[in-house]
Amino acid sequence: MCGIVGYVGRRNARDVIIHGLEILEYRGYDSAGLAITEGGRISVVKKTGYVARLAKATERMGGGCGIGHTRWATHGAPSEINCHPHTAGKFTVVHNGIIENFAVIKRRLESKGRKFLSETDTEVAACLMDDLYKGDPTEALAAAMKKLKGAFAFAVLCADCPGEIFLMKRHSPLVVGLGDGECFAASDCSAFCGYTDTAVFMKDGEIGVMGEGVFTLYDGNLVKKTVRTEKIGGGAPCGQPAEDFMKKEIFETPAALRDTVNAVFGDDSLKKRIIDIFSKNDKVVMTGCGTAYNACLMGKSLFERVLRVPVEAEFASEFRYKNPIVDDKTVVVAVSQSGETADTLAAVRLAKSLGADVVALTNAGRSAITREADLTLLTAAGPERAVAATKSYSAQAAAFLCVATVLSYDMKTVEKIREEICCLPSLASKALASAGEVKALAALYGKKRSVFFIGRGPDYALAVESSLKLKEVSYVHSEGFAAGELKHGTLALIDRDALVIAIVTQRHTAEKTLSALYEVKARGGKIMIVTPFDDLIAENRFDAVIKTPPSSGLTAPVTAMIPLQLFAYYMSKERGINPDKPRNLAKSVTVE
Ligand code: GLU
Repeated sequence: MCGIVGYVGRRNARDVIIHGLEILEYRGYDSAGLAITEGGRISVVKKTGYVARLAKATERMGGGCGIGHTRWATHGAPSEINCHPHTAGKFTVVHNGIIENFAVIKRRLESKGRKFLSETDTEVAACLMDDLYKGDPTEALAAAMKKLKGAFAFAVLCADCPGEIFLMKRHSPLVVGLGDGECFAASDCSAFCGYTDTAVFMKDGEIGVMGEGVFTLYDGNLVKKTVRTEKIGGGAPCGQPAEDFMKKEIFETPAALRDTVNAVFGDDSLKKRIIDIFSKNDKVVMTGCGTAYNACLMGKSLFERVLRVPVEAEFASEFRYKNPIVDDKTVVVAVSQSGETADTLAAVRLAKSLGADVVALTNAGRSAITREADLTLLTAAGPERAVAATKSYSAQAAAFLCVATVLSYDMKTVEKIREEICCLPSLASKALASAGEVKALAALYGKKRSVFFIGRGPDYALAVESSLKLKEVSYVHSEGFAAGELKHGTLALIDRDALVIAIVTQRHTAEKTLSALYEVKARGGKIMIVTPFDDLIAENRFDAVIKTPPSSGLTAPVTAMIPLQLFAYYMSKERGINPDKPRNLAKSVTVE
């Protein structure tokens, strides 16, 4: 969600910024802009839509210092006027986050005669900085930080200081890259990792100043701080794949599963820390947002089955405001692909303040959530650029299965499950072989207005995630249900236009789910089944079938998600939508 890029050095700042913004496109945005200092003048260009439009409009720009932004609108429509950067007096600003008290500050500034062009909270912050400016931009930022409420990361140009970029952050990510005679700033180090492998992860309340190869760091009271650098993986980030990132990433699932399983099973000290942290607690809560929450539903099902301990799954956005029942005997597993999800981060902080231990399950080793957690479990899914999570979800499900196995006391079962888990990558490869059939089914059902997914136990978790995936990338109305619940209300929506997809990976409830499907067929709806069971396919008459690779009841749900992700992907293509950049969505949701 929103991308900030800044650059000072001898390269063409516009090129570095456009390159960085293109890499940050995965975060989701609706408009893009940049500001470049050249010959003491700051030029601003803004465009709605894709970064490619901004790139075209700025082709001739030069200058070695600038800031850029991809905006995901929170305050004011995605228009050119609301797009960042915003200028007020001497200050030109890009911002990620939400200024919660912007209305109060705006009224105060208006009473002093200040005028505003946009509807954004960002312009108010820029104006506040200018209002507080007495000749030293860092002092203006520090004073503004004391007045601003909410979450933010800012990159700021001041007309009096060409060649410098001022930074400040609270709760939103901001990373500085240090190169030879040059500095980079970005919301995520992938934006500059092709140029340098040395980074400074700014902490909440810090203010930074970047010049040509010089970076100075202050606390909120402008006391100088030691700059602590970290090595990040260098090298150019991956370019545009032949087709779409979403497809490429679904096809990377076998490797994501292999590397994630090896990362847990191959690390004895991690296994010991997993056992230590879970065994000293009585209660397990899993929390996350969107797909990560759906992974928690899967985690809950797998944990309860393997370990026979009760697990709660909570939306992080609910957990953080509900006075949750957690204490110093609770372990909270916080799931977030990016590790930056604002609601999940807030849930982590709340859980910690209540005495709970926090385990982060994330794909980003240096993210905000890992910094707060007592233990981090890394999914080794590799970078995920498409907005819709695919391989990272499968890796989260596999990680839950591995952790449950590590925690199990029943050694005979453990050995058996371990063997099954180690087959996950090859099962995933087999599941991918269904891509051609899934594509044909998407062509058949591409015009459906409503698609329902049903399942029981872990298949219910899959139903909810399949539905979310379809909504995200194809804009088809969809819902996911526990199979037995359809008849308690939603059956009223079933008519000849409805498609109901049953996910059946669990033998003991298969017949029951089929009954729900027949109830749909009796009312004229189309029925599809996703299952590894040949006998079910042979003995019943479905309108469509996706056969998944046969495996145990624990691993089958993990790989059954793959054709369902492919179904969402091909439905998106069928409907002429770009699956990598669905409207209104952001990958890493760093605002509330
Ligand atoms: N709240 C700001 C706006 O609506 C920034 C949103 C973002 O993080 O992109 O412009």
